[in-house]
Amino acid sequence: MLIDQQTRKRLLETVAKRVIANEEELTDLDRAIGDGDHGANMRRGFEAVLAGVDELSAKSLGESLKGVGTALVMKVGGASGPLYGTLFLSLGKSLADDVSREQIAQAFAVAIEAVKARGKSDVGQKTMLDVFYPVLGVLREGGDDLAARLKATARLAAEKTIPMKAIRGRASFLGERSIGHMDPGARSSALMVDAVADVMEGIA
Ligand code: ADP
Ligand code: MG
Repeated sequence: MLIDQQTRKRLLETVAKRVIANEEELTDLDRAIGDGDHGANMRRGFEAVLAGVDELSAKSLGESLKGVGTALVMKVGGASGPLYGTLFLSLGKSLADDVSREQIAQAFAVAIEAVKARGKSDVGQKTMLDVFYPVLGVLREGGDDLAARLKATARLAAEKTIPMKAIRGRASFLGERSIGHMDPGARSSALMVDAVADVMEGIA
């Protein structure tokens, strides 16, 4: 499929607006098991993306994703800024404008490895990785109703972080007390997947 300039713009705008619209939920989640800044961190980052959306989407898909990564590294801060930045920078390195589902899945797999290396983290530790992995699985499978399945998988994966004990990030300082709350980074990841899938479905 060809991800042209118009689609790139719609993707960036939809993801950015979705994250910004849910700032309060992310703040509340991070207040429960972190320091309460995840909503504001993400809003700052994606406001920068929105401010530069015309310039970003005029570039190739790879360059626009790298631009998003750079904006997130510079503006989000906290633990999540460098991690989301790494994800988008890595995706930008391998994605061409004309891409297959298999190529997107492969690029996502490589980007997840980059996040793991950067965060010294892995699946099962109550982080954004707990959403990335199941989403990658669905992306690899492909098949009918892919966008709907991606959304359902991401939402459920974020919910599955509730009974987990945090092993990485600020929430890990709470030990057992991190159990019973959804991980804020898992939720922000699910929001992004949801937004991308809406664009795929033509809803956004
Ligand atoms: P901070 O924890 O510095 O306040 P944020 O609140 O913006 O940063 O982001 C917190 C989120 O970052 C967590 O909910 C988790 O999903 C993610 N995170 C933190 N540390 C790691 C890590 N080492 N690997 C993967 N994800 C992480
Ligand atoms: Mg925080």
